[in-house]
Amino acid sequence: MLIWSTPLRDRFRNLTARDGVLLRGPAGWGEFSPFWDYDDATCVPWLRAAVEAATLSFPEPRRTSVPVNATVPAVGPERAAEIVRASGCATVKVKVAQAGQELADDLDRVTAVRDALGAAGRIRVDANAAWSVEDALVALPRIDRAAGGLEYAEQPVASVEDLARVRRAVSVPIAADESIRRASDPYAVVRAEAADVIVVKVQPLGGVRATLALAEELGLPVTVSSALESSVGIAAGVALAAALPRTNAAGLATVAMFAVDVTTDPLLPVDGSLPFRRVTPDAVPPAPPEVDRAWRERLDRVAALAGIDLHEVLA
Ligand SMILES: [Mg+2]
Repeated sequence: MLIWSTPLRDRFRNLTARDGVLLRGPAGWGEFSPFWDYDDATCVPWLRAAVEAATLSFPEPRRTSVPVNATVPAVGPERAAEIVRASGCATVKVKVAQAGQELADDLDRVTAVRDALGAAGRIRVDANAAWSVEDALVALPRIDRAAGGLEYAEQPVASVEDLARVRRAVSVPIAADESIRRASDPYAVVRAEAADVIVVKVQPLGGVRATLALAEELGLPVTVSSALESSVGIAAGVALAAALPRTNAAGLATVAMFAVDVTTDPLLPVDGSLPFRRVTPDAVPPAPPEVDRAWRERLDRVAALAGIDLHEVLA
């Protein structure tokens, strides 16, 4: 077991650092890194995902690498164009609806992204649930025009009911992200016909196999995304995207947000794709003693709750 900790290069939401546990089993390494504001019960599927990665081989991949999206935060148009050109990615996710900014800022940013990306690239926007239904109905058609067509709009509003309302009223496809955080939620999104695409993450959904099964059951196109993991956790996300019958560009190019990764051979995109492979943590940045202790205690509590004997399964 290894416990890692790294500062983030830039604050992400309310985070300035990221840390977690890496577990080694007979198949390789798995990652357990639920966010600190999650209670123990919420962390159970995260542990199942780590144990799966450490004890079972990844499902047979249908492709040897998976395309990933570049991410453009709420920056000005010149910086947005720079990020797109430097990325080598054919799909770009653009942050919109940032607090303190206007719709005009989003329109300028999206226009600049289209100019830099060219006509063939795909643009998706993410509002992180910041709009009201009324805001979304004004903003989305205009952003769609500025983008020359959007692949989809991710979580324009917060609730499943409001997502469904927006989806009925606009022609832009809608993706559910925050609404799919937990395994019990996706069904509500499908029942309400609230989304055209679901954004899935391996750890909160209990592992690669559980997420594959869920995607098949829901029958909606899937975008695999990261939970801001180290390269060990990202490898499981790539394994999921590689095993899906079809996948949109994945939101897995997030390791660059870490000041330090756990390996000398990190999973960073080359020509807009990440390779399918295992990652060995050979350069783990150690956690401060109090963080180390907190993870050991948390792991013990969650394993007990999950009925998992870690000594036995990882032996
Ligand atoms: Mg999102």
